Amino acid sequence: MVDISPTALGSSATSDIFQILRDGRPRTRTELARVTGLARSTVGLRIDSLLQLGLIGPADAAPSTGGRPSSQFALTGGNKVVLAVDIGATHVRIAVSDLVGRPLSEDAADIPVAKGPEEVLHWVIAAGDKLVREAGRSVDDLLAIGVGLPGPVEHSSGRPINPPIMPGWDNVDVPERLQAHFHVPVLVDNDVNIMALGEREVAWPEVDHLIFVKVATGIGAGVISRGMLQRGAQGVAGDIGHVRVYRDNDAICHCGNVGCIEALASGPALAKALTEQGLAAETSQDVVELVRAGNPKAIQAVRQAGRDLGEILNACISLINPSVIVLGGAMARAGEHLIAGVREVVYARSMPLATQHLQITQSSVGANAAVLGASILAIHHVLSPESVEAMVVDLADAVGR
Ligand SMILES: [Zn+2]
Repeated sequence: MVDISPTALGSSATSDIFQILRDGRPRTRTELARVTGLARSTVGLRIDSLLQLGLIGPADAAPSTGGRPSSQFALTGGNKVVLAVDIGATHVRIAVSDLVGRPLSEDAADIPVAKGPEEVLHWVIAAGDKLVREAGRSVDDLLAIGVGLPGPVEHSSGRPINPPIMPGWDNVDVPERLQAHFHVPVLVDNDVNIMALGEREVAWPEVDHLIFVKVATGIGAGVISRGMLQRGAQGVAGDIGHVRVYRDNDAICHCGNVGCIEALASGPALAKALTEQGLAAETSQDVVELVRAGNPKAIQAVRQAGRDLGEILNACISLINPSVIVLGGAMARAGEHLIAGVREVVYARSMPLATQHLQITQSSVGANAAVLGASILAIHHVLSPESVEAMVVDLADAVGR
């Protein structure tokens, strides 16, 4: 039977070829024909579609086997771009990136998220327009927007739900607000999830089982299992901040419970504990500076925070069996003292097989992990098989018209 629907004519096979090229390694038509089992002429047509869409480009010529060198193709930055937005507790960072995740233009502003969605999203829209221009692109080149928010986000709708530090944002339709201006898909996730994506992309591309733990004003984790970010049923998988630590403590948490890890080991919790011991500390940064100055009380407090965190992570390790745990966020800048506390408890209590090859380490991407992760979120959406197929169908329609 000969199927002559537009899909059979190209989109799914084109998407298949594209998914193979997504790893960035250049390949020839012959190689692609061998891997896909398609005829070389068919591969040629599909390559032409991807070239027209600007998703791939010619790479360096393959070594010649006599005769003329055959051309190679690979994923390229191309003209298409995504907008990445990291909305933090006290700042907004934004970047326009190409489809390989390279930032082309960037901006940042100290706008507290507590100013509310009107002011923050107004700035994002104005800055987004400006950055697309600065990157030498037009809004037609924009394919998607990725946004990170500092609170729980319902994955199916992209709406923040009861976010504790985001007054005025509860249930706000963030995707709709940005879509009304930019007319492209908008993906919203919590900041820890996008940091996990960013960290993995840059530092651990080969690792499929990773937990990223953010220790800052709050505490949360982003879980990557079998190479996929795990969001759970509603989008709050990894939200470990309010798990109770069972040591003798009556720390009251802002969530209303007692003894949450966030009430013991977050930056503000440590600052409060140190203030009670007569030291001057208000923020995560103050605690980090005391540790860096070698203050024994601060070092002790951070190390204990690491042990408390280790208790919670033991349960996570049993459940997920990660090969890497990355500690990020402002408190991670306290360096080895926090990590040493985590390791102390994890290696003492976890099953030997689970810790045999487990690495526990500090974030290497740092403050840019979130904006980078937001771009990855958008790029993964744009380059998904469904999305590439839709682009190929649109292209075929445009050519047919
Ligand atoms: Zn709590």
